[in-house]
Amino acid sequence: VKGGTFLKESLSFLIEVQKIDSSIGRIYGKKKDLPEKLSELQGAFAKANNELSESREKIDELTGNHKEKEDSLKKGQELLKKTKARQFEVKTNKEYEAILKEIESIEEKNSQAEDQIIVLLDEIDRCRAAFVHTEKEFKEFQLRYESDKKKIEDELATLDSELQILQEKSDVVRQKIDKALLKKYEAIKGLNKGLAVVPAWKEVCQGCNMNIPPQLYNELQKTVQLITCPNCYRILYWEDQNAESH
Ligand SMILES: [Zn+2]
Repeated sequence: VKGGTFLKESLSFLIEVQKIDSSIGRIYGKKKDLPEKLSELQGAFAKANNELSESREKIDELTGNHKEKEDSLKKGQELLKKTKARQFEVKTNKEYEAILKEIESIEEKNSQAEDQIIVLLDEIDRCRAAFVHTEKEFKEFQLRYESDKKKIEDELATLDSELQILQEKSDVVRQKIDKALLKKYEAIKGLNKGLAVVPAWKEVCQGCNMNIPPQLYNELQKTVQLITCPNCYRILYWEDQNAESH
């Protein structure tokens, strides 16, 4: 490809097609990353949900234990009452001593049950407070989760249509480029992770950040022939980046 105007035009098409292709590459990247992000998010939500359920189950379990202990204490108190009544019916000292021992043992058991009930009630209080905290955190997380999830799903839904539009654009521009040049572009792109056309500024190739020999850089500014980077082989174009940023 030679000749100033023709080359300038070809280069501008190449730059355009490169921009579109880079956008296409970013979309493919998102199409790969977003489902992973989504499944990570869903995993974190399932874990938080599970923690909340476990916290609730723990309270249910302790409440069940508490009820059992209260029932058995109640039975113990009834037994104590009956046993105490029996002490007036005994005939011998031996029988009386036996009953006293029995009463003592029942009282001991009841007292242990009372202690266990106090411990259980304390634990239930602690678990309920922890549950309130976990539930508050969960609800906050749930709001964030739902909005993040929706964002990702919306983004994924629009990617395919964006991709289609870009591919159509790319095809249109490609048709304007000389076939041999396009072939060269594709080959360089294949070697350089999708980047074949890069600007050069201040004698530096912005594809590989290596210096371009001054003479080649001068040639590049004239735009009379297609110049590739001697280091990364990408197609170069000169871009006045001072002019762009001011
Ligand atoms: Zn380079």
